[in-house]
Amino acid sequence: MRCGFCLPACPTFRETGLEAESPRGRIALMKATVDGIMGPDVPFEEQMSHCLGCRACEPACPADVKYGQLIEQARDAIEEHTTQHRGWVKGVRKLVFQGLFPHPKRMELLGKGLKLYQRSGLQTAVRKTNALKLLPKQLADMEKILPEATGKGVVKTLGTHVPAKGQKVGTVGMFRGCLMDAMFAETNRKTVELLSEAGFDVAIPEAQNCCGALHAHSGETAQAKELAKRNIRAFREAGVDAIISNAGGCGAILVEYDHLLHDEPQWREDAAWFASHTKDISTILWNEGRPLPFAEPVGGEAAAVRVTYQDSCHLKNVMKGGASPRSLLGALPGVELVEMKDAGSCCGSAGIYNITQPEMANRLLEKKMKDANGTAAHYIVTSNPGCLLQMKLGIERHASDKRMEAVHIVDFLHERMAARG
Ligand code: SF4
Ligand code: SF4
Repeated sequence: MRCGFCLPACPTFRETGLEAESPRGRIALMKATVDGIMGPDVPFEEQMSHCLGCRACEPACPADVKYGQLIEQARDAIEEHTTQHRGWVKGVRKLVFQGLFPHPKRMELLGKGLKLYQRSGLQTAVRKTNALKLLPKQLADMEKILPEATGKGVVKTLGTHVPAKGQKVGTVGMFRGCLMDAMFAETNRKTVELLSEAGFDVAIPEAQNCCGALHAHSGETAQAKELAKRNIRAFREAGVDAIISNAGGCGAILVEYDHLLHDEPQWREDAAWFASHTKDISTILWNEGRPLPFAEPVGGEAAAVRVTYQDSCHLKNVMKGGASPRSLLGALPGVELVEMKDAGSCCGSAGIYNITQPEMANRLLEKKMKDANGTAAHYIVTSNPGCLLQMKLGIERHASDKRMEAVHIVDFLHERMAARG
């Protein structure tokens, strides 16, 4: 159709005004390579790398063009034809995709290493001696917003089964994620506790692993498929009614395992089951769980805490789960939810985009923080670890009130619930 309805939804087009930086332009470039007018060469690769993969173009498209599937195929083709990546990008890709994320034990070691770094005094020494200046600026800034690691994943803390509190509503399996469990283990623990409180028996299958999202979005499809199969097997064997994710970026690939494995007939049925039974934590809590016992504001003080919600692009655009977090936050006693302008627009985190494409990521972050500052919120609440870190970075750099905090919705809900006690 080439109607262009997707253009105003695209953050990179809005920033640059260039057709080549728009979904329609990128699709035209993809078609030109398929037709042999151009090859999947370096300029094509660069143009595809500028895409955030936020998929804001999909809900805007009247023809239901599956842009997410197109960009994955394009990146797959680039990987097949690319003989060399630029220096450190190649190193990061290899380390992350092959050496780290697919291995739960190595991710656990990463969490332990981070804990040691933070608690041994090394972090303080590094910061005092300005050693961070040796790193590229983007990485040095990321160090400042590292979450406090516990070095202990959710299974080590709670075991593989946690029973429902009170009358049971159902049995769910928790998708713990690789990065979430290494760096945000407390959020995982609280996710299970919220589910249990809401009436769900929770299984946390140990055989699960990384969701494969970063692999699928970066042209490493074969590895993404392998990871998907391991996850499907693990949750099928656990006999759960639903698979719960607390990270929009992971959830979006989990609900598309059927597409990922569409050319493997022996996996079709199981992949379709897995995809259709995956839900975000906010969605299940709001739609199916027993109401959680949240704290009343102290002394009857109304609307004491002001929050704004930054959408996870993948939760909103792929899982269609943008409403439930807002419903949960809006229903909290003593909390005022203030909508920020363009809350659904990407913050620039986008997997490892903020590391590989720092210039555009920083432009988007600065704009996002202008909108967040406009709400005068005490908290920016998010539903994805990447968005959470990016919001922390935004607060560090651009917040008009340094008391502003970025927080995962699970941590925020859990704290409001715990506050009652
Ligand atoms: S992708 Fe959809 S919205 Fe964008 S130009 Fe094509 S048909 Fe129009
Ligand atoms: S995925 Fe996001 S950045 Fe990429 S073309 Fe679509 S809207 Fe633009």
